[in-house]
Amino acid sequence: MSEEKEQKKLEKEEQKRKQREERERLKAERKERKERERREKEQALDEMQELPDIEADQNSEELKCEPIFQPSKVEEGVVIPYECEEEPQEQPPILEEPLTILEEEAQEEDREGWFSRLRNGLSKSRMNFVAPLSRAMASRRFDDAFWEEVEEILVGADVGVDMTMILVERVKARMAREKVKEPEQLLALFRGVLAEALDTGAQYLRFATQGPSVFMVVGVNGTGKTTTIAKLGHLLQRDEKTVIFAAGDTFRAAGVEQLETWGERVGLHTVKHRQGADAAAVIHDAVESANARGIDVVIADTAGRLHTKTNLMEELKKIRRIAERGAQVTETLLVIDATTGQNGVIQASRFKEAVDVTGVVLTKLDGTAKGGIVVAIVHDLGIPIKFIGVGEGLDDLYPFDPEEFAAALFS
Ligand code: GDP
Repeated sequence: MSEEKEQKKLEKEEQKRKQREERERLKAERKERKERERREKEQALDEMQELPDIEADQNSEELKCEPIFQPSKVEEGVVIPYECEEEPQEQPPILEEPLTILEEEAQEEDREGWFSRLRNGLSKSRMNFVAPLSRAMASRRFDDAFWEEVEEILVGADVGVDMTMILVERVKARMAREKVKEPEQLLALFRGVLAEALDTGAQYLRFATQGPSVFMVVGVNGTGKTTTIAKLGHLLQRDEKTVIFAAGDTFRAAGVEQLETWGERVGLHTVKHRQGADAAAVIHDAVESANARGIDVVIADTAGRLHTKTNLMEELKKIRRIAERGAQVTETLLVIDATTGQNGVIQASRFKEAVDVTGVVLTKLDGTAKGGIVVAIVHDLGIPIKFIGVGEGLDDLYPFDPEEFAAALFS
């Protein structure tokens, strides 16, 4: 064999060896990641066990006829009578509406600023998710090793194993149908499949058609509840809605002051009682005030931690019952911190069991490289994402639009 042939043979063998090693490395990484996910889930479930046994509470006869709260505890002269097992009343219809601000922002100039802020907020995810996809496609070798790599990337971005398989199957099917051969086309196809998977058709906020709408904001402390309330109030105000805040996180030290400070910053009134007061009484006052002043929306903060004696989930239900005496609770928004990844999903599923969550606000997407968590939330929880937070500023809350999200991520 000539020297040249010998050399080529050696090079080929070397290349094969490298490919083999790379496949083994990916395999080991996948195994490790799965193991880590399993450990994280176990840990999150352990943490969740601190939450009360919801089913047991729901079946409790005692709770059904519990007084809403003790009149002796009511502050500022407001007394709410005891009531047990209220007859459900017929409610006026609820309207699902896009914020018109979106249409304004859609105007050329604003649109650019709006989109580039969103794009910036997703830059970590783009680096970790879209950039490697793009690199993998560049070889134009769409073989098994390529698809394995794609799966690795999606799982690594917290899309979740099941949804990764589903997305990859959909992309493969469309790729064959549309005879896609070029990397750019394949990337665009990915973007389309992602946008479709995120589209629940229920992204808009729901408003009462008569009287004030109450938006309850629930979630674990530190997820960004208070900041989200401020951002949402600001957004609704820009949408020409009148808004007040109800400082219902009376449990946490400084919870009331924090919301009030935000209220002052955005120019919105905060209805408050002192720390430790009954949160239901705060909501009651806020709803009364909203009715008296013709306010459109009451955004109610709630405690994010268990009290030692009171059951958090029962308290949320109680707040809702009280609010519904004077208004319609049209949204219960669950705030989830995107940086907590799969743990956040597990946490959310516990809230979902206890309260009727109508939408998710996913905060801190700017702080994570694992933006794929949006897919896991929409699919594992079956709750629409209504807003995403991509920064600490007042304007960093975006109504969630799957097309726009996918475009910003893949741009
Ligand atoms: P709460 O305890 O749930 O009320 O959480 P806070 O509203 O106090 O927020 C906790 C921290 O998260 C604060 O430092 C916020 O500025 C920060 N935060 C909230 N939303 C976002 C977001 O979308 N992006 C980033 N980077 N930080 C956020």
